[in-house]
Amino acid sequence: METEKILIIVDFQRDFCNPQGSLYVKGSEEALENIKKFLEENLVKEVILTLDWHNYDDESFKVNGGQWPVHCLQYSEGAGISDELMKIIGEHELPYQIFRKGDDPTHEEYGAFEKKIQMHNSDNIMLVNHLETSMIMIKPDTEYVLCGIAGDYCVYETFKNLMKHGIKPRVFMDGMAFINQKSLWMARHSLTKDGKAFIGEKFDLYER
Ligand SMILES: [Zn+2]
Repeated sequence: METEKILIIVDFQRDFCNPQGSLYVKGSEEALENIKKFLEENLVKEVILTLDWHNYDDESFKVNGGQWPVHCLQYSEGAGISDELMKIIGEHELPYQIFRKGDDPTHEEYGAFEKKIQMHNSDNIMLVNHLETSMIMIKPDTEYVLCGIAGDYCVYETFKNLMKHGIKPRVFMDGMAFINQKSLWMARHSLTKDGKAFIGEKFDLYER
């Protein structure tokens, strides 16, 4: 029987995925096409959507001394999830949960799941963001698949968070868009070769 999957889609927000967005990442359209195909071809039971969720005074913004243009301001249009992606999720009638991160202006939070809380009398854990304002229940016996934007920043750091908490997600490379370093993932392959596999044309070698 095919394993049910939970798809984690990192930061698929208008500021990142629309060409007019303030921090547009090239390749987002192709990533979305591939996510669409993935949802058609796989048994996905739920989607987890992470949101980059900043205050005006975020220290990662150039205007405040950081390296990024202002992006994903809380409740702004640019912080909204891609309309196209929401349409696809709706068409598949998929339940989804939202997980917000990046809301501490003094703390750079690329990865979504910084901390974990072990549940009493259960193998389930709760993953939380830096300020513990967002949390999500994770069941270790479920298959998690990871994709989103940007592959070399927030998706990559989210992957590292999950590995740190003992969850080995499958990595859906074709469902990602990259700011510049797609190759970053090659170096991580040793982390996953005895665990979950990569999914994507570049990483078929590591399929289970
Ligand atoms: Zn950000």
